[in-house]
Parts: sequence; structure tokens; C-alpha cells
Amino acid sequence: MPQPAPQREAAQQNAYRRIYPLRVIGMGLGGLSIAAVLIEQQAAPWRWSLMIASCLLWPQIALLRARLSTDAYRAEKHNLLIDSAIAGMWVPLMHFNLLPSVVLVTVTTFDKLSSGMRRLWLASLPGLFGTAALVALVLRPPLELQSSLLVIVCTLPLLIVHTLSSSIASYRLIRTVSRQNKQLELLRRTDAQTGLYAREHWQQQADAALQRFHATGQPACLLMIDVDHFKRVNDTYGHTAGDEVIRAVGQLIRDCIRAEDSAGRYGGDEFAVLCHHIDMADARHIAERIRTQLLTLRLPDHPALRLSSSIGLAEAEASYANLQSWMAAADAALYAAKHQGRNQVVNLPLAAAPLC
Ligand code: GH3
Ligand code: MG
Repeated sequence: MPQPAPQREAAQQNAYRRIYPLRVIGMGLGGLSIAAVLIEQQAAPWRWSLMIASCLLWPQIALLRARLSTDAYRAEKHNLLIDSAIAGMWVPLMHFNLLPSVVLVTVTTFDKLSSGMRRLWLASLPGLFGTAALVALVLRPPLELQSSLLVIVCTLPLLIVHTLSSSIASYRLIRTVSRQNKQLELLRRTDAQTGLYAREHWQQQADAALQRFHATGQPACLLMIDVDHFKRVNDTYGHTAGDEVIRAVGQLIRDCIRAEDSAGRYGGDEFAVLCHHIDMADARHIAERIRTQLLTLRLPDHPALRLSSSIGLAEAEASYANLQSWMAAADAALYAAKHQGRNQVVNLPLAAAPLC
């Protein structure tokens, strides 16, 4: 499910906690690769000190910056930009040693992309290349592109660990998105108040049942159920009681139908049930069960409240070219039940049903 705004904001403010161990590992392994180059360069102590400061101390400083900031998200964004500038700085300091230079620049830019922060990768490029250019201009290092076996071996851990951890993060993300998509689909299909199918999804099922009937002759019946004088419930007991009735009727319908039947909220106080593999006589039994059970329904908060329902039935017929005609037949039967005094189940003879 998509996160509500306060939760999303809290997650953003806590981003630095998630990033901290990744920075420690990434910078630590980056430091190993840089150290291999420094050994071969027989580098001066200040370069070693810079390596320790940027690869070992910086992750701790970044953590403190985010923790102490009033806007941890913004501070962490700046930290990520500084990561890129540090990587850029090391490219000329390593005399452009090809493998570690390319890996450091790629890894740090990939991290900006995978952070999900809008356009951060783009914002990181001036710092990355700007620092590289500045250090190159000031120090004018020699160009030593070749990577020795020692440098290759010391760069591999960063390459392997970064690739694996990125793959695991992508895998988790894909799983989360697919789980959330399923939840969204379930929400789309369900009426929030009753837990029954929402109208559109119920109609899709009824349409499929009619197509099946046309193709294979498999019988099916529709029940249109409407609570009698429901407006009076709202007027007498209030809208909250009316909502409670809607929920209770939804539950009652669910309890009265078979597992293979599909019940939906058609709108307001109107419900629809699709009964599979069933003829009119058996569908009538189910409809009568719903009607009589509703007569005995009592709400704990309003024990005096009495309910009844009118139910129209229509069996799938060859003459129903589409769902509208089938629904129209069930609606006509419901209308007849209302007209004849309510609290009854009606199925019209085929000829009496309007054909669309
Ligand atoms: P009839 O016997 O002819 O069906 O009479 P009725 O009063 O039930 O009339 P109708 O079915 O047309 O009225 C349904 C009313 O239900 C209209 C609307 O104000 C109310 N309603 C629709 N949805 C809800 C809901 O979710 N909660 C509540 N409390 N009322 C609702
Ligand atoms: Mg009604």
C-alpha cells in the first residue's frame, strides 16, 4: 500500500540510518581499492591521511551531520553529494588508475540513482567532475591508467559487494511493488463498507458467467436485492445506523450464499448476487433464505429496528445478448417485488422481462 504522507516523511527523515551502513561498507571497500593504488605510488603520508579521513572518518561525520540536523533528509542529500565529490577527488589522486577510477565514479553515481531522490544523480555530477578537475589542475598528476593485479584484486570486493547488494535491494523493491499492486487490485475489487465485491468487478464476473452460459449452457442466476424503505432507517435512526445496516446486510448475504457464488454491492442499499451452476428453483431457495434471515436481523444498538428486502431473480437465457439485458430482467423482477408490496422474491416469466 502507498504510505500516507506522515509515514513517508518519517521514512525520508530516517533515510540516513538506512544509508549509514551502506556508506561504511562502500567507503571502506573503496578505501581498500585506493590503498592498493597508494601502495604502488609509494604515496606521501598526507595522501594516506586523506584516504583514512575520506573513507573511514567521513561516514561517521556524515552520520553526525544528519543526526544533528533539524532536517535530516536534506542533510543526508548533501552527504550523498559530498560522497560523489570525494570519489571525484580520488580519481586524479590515484593518477587516473583506470579500474578503481571507473568503479568509484560508477558506484557513486549508481548510488545517487538508486537513492530514489529526485534528480540527485544529476546534481552530483558537477561535484564529482568539478572536484576531479580542480584536484587535477592543482596537483597536475601523471596519467597512470594501467591497473596492476594488486589494484584489480583490491577493487573486486567493492565491485562484487556493490553489485550483490544493489541486486538484493532491487529484488526487495520488486517484491514490495508487486505486493502493493496486489493490495491495490484487492482494494479496487472490494466495496470498503461491506467487504463484498465492488460493482465493476461484480459486473465483470456476471458478464463472464453469461458468456460461459452462451458458450457451454452452464446455468447461472442473478439476484438483485434491495432493502425496503431504507430511507426510513436513515431518517429514524440516523446515517450511522444506516451504515451499520448496510454492513450487516452485506454480512448476512455472504452467510446465506454458497462459497462459489459472488455477492457484490451494487450501490446504496442495493446488492447483487451471481449464483453459478444453479437453476431458478435453487436460486429461489437462496433468495428466500436471504429474505427470511433479514427479517430476523437485529442491530445491538437499535434492537427495535426491523428490516425486510425485495429480491428480483433472473436466470441466464439465450435471448440475453449482453449483461445489460440480463440485469434488466432481474431489475424488472425487483421492481415487481416492490410494486407487489415488498418483502418478497419475484422471478418474472421470460416474456415479461424487457429485452435490450
Ligand atoms: P424502497 O423500498 O423503494 O427501496 O425504498 P428506499 O427507502 O429503500 O429507497 P431507495 O432504495 O431508493 O433508497 C436508498 C437510500 O439509501 C438513499 C440513500 O440516501 C441511502 N443510502 C445509500 N447509500 C447509503 C450508505 O452507504 N449509507 C447510508 N446510511 N445510506 C445510504
Ligand atoms: Mg431500498
